[in-house]
This record gives sequence, structure tokens and C-alpha cells, in this order.
Amino acid sequence: MTSTKIETMAAVAATTRPALAEVGSDVLAGWLAKADAAPFRLAQVDDAFWRRHARTAAELHPLPGALRERLAAEFRLDTLVDTEVRPADDGATEKALHRLEDGSLIESVLMHYPRRAGRRERHTVCISSQVGCAVGCPFCATGELGFGRDLSTAEIVDQVRWAARRLAVSGRSLTNVVFMGMGEPLLNLDHVLEAVAALADAARFGLGARHITVSTSGVVPGIRRLTALGPRFTLAISLHAARDPLRDVLVPLNRRWPVVEVVAAARDHARATGRRISYEYTMIGGVNDTDLDADALAMLLRGDLAHVNLIPMNPVAHTPWIASPMPVIERFAGRVEAAGIAVTIRRNRGQEIGAACGQLAAERAGEPPALTVGRRRERLILASAAALRGERSHDPAPALGGDGRPAAPSLGEA
Ligand code: SAH
Ligand code: SF4
Repeated sequence: MTSTKIETMAAVAATTRPALAEVGSDVLAGWLAKADAAPFRLAQVDDAFWRRHARTAAELHPLPGALRERLAAEFRLDTLVDTEVRPADDGATEKALHRLEDGSLIESVLMHYPRRAGRRERHTVCISSQVGCAVGCPFCATGELGFGRDLSTAEIVDQVRWAARRLAVSGRSLTNVVFMGMGEPLLNLDHVLEAVAALADAARFGLGARHITVSTSGVVPGIRRLTALGPRFTLAISLHAARDPLRDVLVPLNRRWPVVEVVAAARDHARATGRRISYEYTMIGGVNDTDLDADALAMLLRGDLAHVNLIPMNPVAHTPWIASPMPVIERFAGRVEAAGIAVTIRRNRGQEIGAACGQLAAERAGEPPALTVGRRRERLILASAAALRGERSHDPAPALGGDGRPAAPSLGEA
């Protein structure tokens, strides 16, 4: 047998072993019994894995050496092969680029917020739910990459364990998880729900469900499925425009589920769960920051249990756009607030969720040819100018089954 063949077989064996993050207590208890381990060992595995974030056999103490080795041979303790960390914002933000077993790259961002008057210190990790994204929002670095694949439940959970481990080194603890990294979580909803269940479970990771936020670009059947399930976490909706012609360009999924349908689903969710909906609105200079847009937003959300976050656009290569100037954002905020809607301007751009995700992976993916970039910019300028005139795009909605799956899988759509 050639050495490459042996390496390939080893890689396959590595990925076919179940990941410990996905193994239920009953299965693990059964495995331990078969390995002649005493029942109390289960609590020790849970403690080492979920509370001390073990990723190697050696870290599974106080289990006996032989049992540690057997566990590590039978289950994958970590699905992140390696991680490169880049600090930003004077250490207030740590961007992590994780390599997965198949070589795919995903990002997470760990954000540190010091204690402020009346608020305790917070450490939030922004995690990915997919490799790339099929939605293709033109101001987003992940959208630029296109869709790779869904992340497994363990790949989602292991990003959070990575952040918790990093914080533990300096005696700190993770306080919040936001799904605002790469990918559209509601298009990988089964795995996202399983990951959230493990993270919120007091017997496993043990983070309160209220400290978990999932952001969606508006997958209406996914929102409706969440409403039927009852409160699981805080829901954030990436709005970015209140008018269809403009939202068709900024969030191409709008061509499939128009903005009024998205807001109607979010409103029903807020009513059913009693939880306020967060709307994310990235401020793009001269594109979605006019008085007309502010008034359309105020009209759309008037009377709702809603909170709007205005986020200055983070610069992204290959787009013709930049952030709106702060006075424009303040004027926009004032008009929306005047309609009785709560608004927050997120000033610390580098630290802000989402803004950072996808950029390192896009950088790694390399520069597309200059001609492609030029054409893309030209198309976006024309499309946004047409949208400002109120003309709707005739482009089709993004094909969501980028890997050959049927479009919009397992959303429970009637
Ligand atoms: N796909 C989901 C979650 C990941 S994106 C969604 O779109 O909601 C997380 C957030 O980051 C979204 O609100 C997204 O619109 C925002 N975002 C993406 N690129 C950005 C940029 N260049 N500047 C500011 N916010 C950005
Ligand atoms: Fe996908 Fe969200 Fe980026 Fe849009 S903003 S391309 S939905 S990750």
C-alpha cells in the first residue's frame, strides 16, 4: 500500500470516529460500561470535556491512563485541527481561523468587554455555522466565498469550547455565544439546534439559553420552525434594508422571502416567545442610509417588540461601498427613534460581531482576478442605483442547495 493511501485511510478513520461533543450521555454510559469502567467515570468525562474543555487524552484527568487512551481512540475529542489567532483592537478582540479535518477554514471571534457601570465583564464568542454561505450578501466577506458545506454539531460546539479554553487560561469565563460568524444558521438548523441544546444544557456546557443569540438573514420557514419549538435562544434578524428593491440587492434571499414576510415571522416569534427581536442594520454610505430608508424602517417596525442595532459597515474587499459617516448614522437613528423604536449605534466596529467574520478565510482563499472584481463592483453600483430608484432586481434568488442538496433542506416548510 502506498503511503498516500495509508494517510487517506487514517484521515477517513479520524473523521468516521464519533465526535465526543455529539455523543449523548446514554451512549457514553453504555460505552464506559462495556469498557468495565465504574459508573462514576461518566461524570468525570463530562467534567473534563464540558467544564474543563479537554481536547487531548492527557487532559482527561482524573480518568486512569488506559481509559483516557481508549476514549481518545474511540471518540474525536476535538474537530478543530488547528487554530491561528490574530489579536485586534488592542487585544479586545481575538480573531481565530480554525482548520477542520477536511482542510476547510472557518472563523470565530472572541470579544472581551470590560466591566462598566452597572454591567459585569463579558466575553462573547461569535461562531460560524457553515463553511462559506450560499446567501451571498455583497457587503459580507463570507458571501464572497460562496457555500462550502454545513458544519457538524461538534464543529459548532468545538468553536465555543475553544473560546472557553482560551479564556480559562487567564481565569476568565465565557458569558455569551452569538451565531454571527460564517454561514446562515437557519439553513443548518438541525445542527445549530443540537449545538445550542448542548451549550445550554446544565449537565453539559451549561450556558443559559438567554446568553445565546442566533442571527438570520431571513429564512422564513426556519423562523417559523423556531417559533413552534418555543424559546431556545435570542433571535436576531439581519435586515439592512426595509424596502424590497434594495434588500433584494443587499440580502439576495429577499427575492425568495420578501422583507414583510420576514418581519411578520419575526413579529409572530416575538409575540409567541415574549422575547424582543434584535434587528441588525449595516450602515452602507449612500446605499441604505437615506431619510427614505429610515422612514421605511420606522414604518416597517412601528409598534413591534423590536430593537434595532445600527452597525457601520466594516470594510470588505471587492465591494464599492464604505460605512456611512457617523453624523448620517446619528440622523438615521434619530428618525427611527422618533417613531418609538429602540435603536443602538454600535461604534466599536472592529469588535462588532459579524463585521469580522469571513475576512480571514476570504483572505486565505486568495484574490479573484482584477477583471472579476471590476465587473462585480460595476454590477453592484448599477444594482444599488436601480434599487434607490425603486426598481426591483430580476436576478433569481440564490440557489441554497449549493452542494447538490434540494433547495432549502429540512426547513419544515409546508
Ligand atoms: N448569516 C447570518 C449570520 C452571520 S452574518 C446573518 O446574515 O444574519 C452576521 C452579521 O454580520 C449579519 O448581520 C451580517 O449582515 C453582518 N455583516 C456581514 N458583513 C458585514 C460587514 N462588512 N460590515 C458589518 N456587518 C456585516
Ligand atoms: Fe451569509 Fe450572513 Fe454573510 Fe449574508 S451576511 S452572506 S447571510 S453570512
